[in-house]
Amino acid sequence: MLKELKVDESKCIKCKACLDVCFKNVIEWDEEKQKPFGKYPLDCQVCAICEFACPVKAIEVIPDWDAKYYPRYVSTLREVNVK
Ligand code: SF4
Ligand code: SF4
Repeated sequence: MLKELKVDESKCIKCKACLDVCFKNVIEWDEEKQKPFGKYPLDCQVCAICEFACPVKAIEVIPDWDAKYYPRYVSTLREVNVK
């Protein structure tokens, strides 16, 4: 689950690559602010593909670690970190 989709507006070149690569269609374009935003945070799988796709590293996925639901692999990663 997504807590926040941070976008550094000073870096963003408005290429919309982050929208294109999100396989869950979490990200949409804010026409007014001319920047991407996380419209469907519950659907986010915290895969960070949008971060990797951004050519200028302007986007950052902040997961909601307090959420009751986690994608399965994120839960696994957390367990691995505990060991
Ligand atoms: S982390 Fe993955 S699922 Fe979440 S917004 Fe980015 S590309 Fe979409
Ligand atoms: S991929 Fe990066 S530069 Fe392109 S619209 Fe998204 S945040 Fe902006």
